Parts: sequence; structure tokens; C-alpha cells
Amino acid sequence: MADPKTADLVLTGGTVLTLDAADTESTALAVADGRVVALGEVAHLIGPNTHVVDLYGRTVLPGINDSHLHGAWLGTLWPGTLLGAGGMADAGAQRLSTPAERRAAIQRAGDVIAALGITSYTEPGLGPGEDNGQTGCFSTGVLEEYAAMANEGLLRARVTVLRLFGELDGPSTLADFEAGMSSATPATDPRWLTVAGVKIFADGIPPMRSAWTHRCYADGSQGHLLVEGTDLAEREANLRRMIDLAHRAGAQIGVHATGDRSIEVTVSAMADAIAAHGPAGRHYLIHGDLVGTEVLARLPELGIGLNTQPGIAVMTGDWLSAALGEEALAGAWPLRQAFEQGVRVCLSSDAPVIEPDWRRWVAAAAEWMGAKASPELMRQLLRGYTVTPAEQDGAESWKGSLEVGKVADLCVLEANPLEVAPADLPHVGVNLTVVGGRIVYES
Ligand SMILES: [Zn+2]
Repeated sequence: MADPKTADLVLTGGTVLTLDAADTESTALAVADGRVVALGEVAHLIGPNTHVVDLYGRTVLPGINDSHLHGAWLGTLWPGTLLGAGGMADAGAQRLSTPAERRAAIQRAGDVIAALGITSYTEPGLGPGEDNGQTGCFSTGVLEEYAAMANEGLLRARVTVLRLFGELDGPSTLADFEAGMSSATPATDPRWLTVAGVKIFADGIPPMRSAWTHRCYADGSQGHLLVEGTDLAEREANLRRMIDLAHRAGAQIGVHATGDRSIEVTVSAMADAIAAHGPAGRHYLIHGDLVGTEVLARLPELGIGLNTQPGIAVMTGDWLSAALGEEALAGAWPLRQAFEQGVRVCLSSDAPVIEPDWRRWVAAAAEWMGAKASPELMRQLLRGYTVTPAEQDGAESWKGSLEVGKVADLCVLEANPLEVAPADLPHVGVNLTVVGGRIVYES
């Protein structure tokens, strides 16, 4: 990187929470060519063409990374959400059918998230399994539109994509998975669009009695794997083959798994793949509602992450308990233990299942953990939305924290989150969002 004489953008006169490894705090930050070039002393970098933002005591945070957010679907349904205060949106009311509609949905999601300080997200599941889907929001066409927008420089957030070779929240077959794995992905600038790997639906969710569990639902059923097979054993064998195949291909694997039993099989299959072929990808469990203590304890050594949605825990805990009982709920979404054991915990929204406002879900995480408000807790939760998802993206060397040389993805909050209780964070406004040094939102 050339040593710039002047900065393009300077933010000064406030607090910069860098979230680097030492939790360094600063008072100013300078950006040139889309990257952070200085922290603290920036006056000498201000030239006639430098855009100077006076923070007036406000706080700069690394840009938020919502590591599980269905962008095209959010853009289609917004302001509706599936579990919103206004009731359930009709998921299939509008179908994305044309490239122009797909682009409009992605752009609309871009507006919504830019206003929240979100600068990266993972679009968890786009591919042929949904090409004839009810919503059109998860199709190959959506991935192609993302690629076109990335190539035209139109994305306002960095997007990581997991491909989907079965149906969203539905069945998949080994044959489709094998065919999908050998199909090509669009070529793009990986700083803006990365097709990192695959999404697999191991099971459904407890309230629908479709999570695969050792427990029993009221009707005596226990759920089953969504991966197709003639019986449970073949379903399991096919899931294991999918994981082995994707692992050998070097793909990241994100598995939707909510039931204790599907989580056990998924982690066991990932462990086998790692033992046989060495580590690859940054695999992770998605949701992980009923992850058991023993499985949780294995995740750090295996390098398997947990991507979970505290907002969904708070909003649907009662439904889980209605389906599987109070005892199941008591052990569900063990966020506190996951943090304590050093699991790579990413917090996310799963928007538009719920709204993408991370401030609410940071508050929900603290509520779910029953944790006392403290700066340490807030840092831990903020890391779950910044530094740790950058690790999930395999991108911690260039994004996720505010350090010299890293990309200038950041947001400005009207108050310092370390000085407010998590429950009050939703009232702290987002004033400015910057991606790659470019202002994408200003209140
Ligand atoms: Zn989802």
C-alpha cells in the first residue's frame, strides 16, 4: 500500500472502538483508498480534498456483519418479516421472477441494512434447489444478479454466499448435491462477493416438530433428517457423504441443524472429514437450538463455529417449550456456555425471519444469557457481529476490526455502546455507514 499524503476521509473528535485483539480505543481514524491508514494522529493527513467528519463525541465501530441474512428475501418482504410485530408476512406473496426484480430486491435490502450500519452479510442458500421455489428469492438467478451487481460496483455491503442444492427448509438429494458441487460459480471480486461454500438443511425447527431430536414431540414423533433416503440410516449416510464431498472440495459448510440428533450427526461427519482429509473451510452449525453440552465442548478443537440468532431464541422460546417441554427449553441456545468454551460464536438475524436490527439482537443475547451488563459483555456481543463473522468469512486479515491496513468498513453510533446497557442499545441511533471508505448511509 502506498503511503498516502492525504486521506480521503477522516473521522475525528469521538471514540473509535477498533475491536482489535487488544481492544484499542482511539479518538480519530483516517481512510485512504478504501482502507484505514491511521488511528489517533490524523491531522497531518487532512488535505484540501479530505472529507472530514466531526464525530462530536460519537462512537465509531467496525461495520456490522450479519452473518446469516437472506438479502433478496429481506428486500422482497420488507418492511414485513416472518415473526414481526405486525404478524406473519406472507412469504410467497410476491415472487421474484426477472433480473430487474432480483436487482431491486437486493438494492432494497442494501438500503435497509446500510441504515443499520451493516457492511457485510452472508446470503445463506442460493442455488438450483430453489430455481422453481415459491418466492424466487433463493434461486441461481439471485446469485447471478449479485455477481452482476458486484462486477458493476453496485453492492453496498460485502456478500458471502453459501450455495444451496436442495430446497430451502426442505429436502435435498445426494445426486443433486453431487451435481451442484461440480457446477461452476460466477467469477467476481472476492472482496465484494465470495461464494464460500454450501448450505445444507439437516432438519427443520422444533416448533414445527421437524427438528430431529432424542426427545419426543407430543405425538410421539422425533423428527428426521431432511436429506433424502429410504430410512433414517440412509438419510444419515447421505448427509455424511454430502459433508465429506464438500469438505474435500475445500468448500465451507454451513448446516442448518436445530435438533440435538441432527447436530450430533453433523458434527460427527465434519469431525470425520477433518480427520480423514485435514482441516478445510470454516464450517459451522446454523441455529443450533438444541446443541448438547458434549457436542458444544468439541466445537473449538474442531474449528466448527456456531451461527445463532438470539432474537429468535427470545421470540420463539415458548414455542420450543410447547413442542418439547420446559426442560428442553432450559438447555436450548446455550449462548453463555458457547462463549465460555471459546466456540466461534456468530450472532445473526436470519432476516427476514426477524428484522435485521442487530442492536435489538445484541440486547436479546444479553437477555437470553441472563448476563449482567458490563463493557466486557458488550464487547463480546459486538465481536459476535464484527470480528467473529469476519473469521467465519475467512477474512479476518482484512476486515472485522478497525486496524491500519484493513478495509474501512465502519459505522458511527450516537453513543458509546460500552457505556449503555444492552437493553438500551436499540435506542442508540446509527448516524453513518461507510463501506470500503465510501459513505453508503448518512442520517
Ligand atoms: Zn435462514
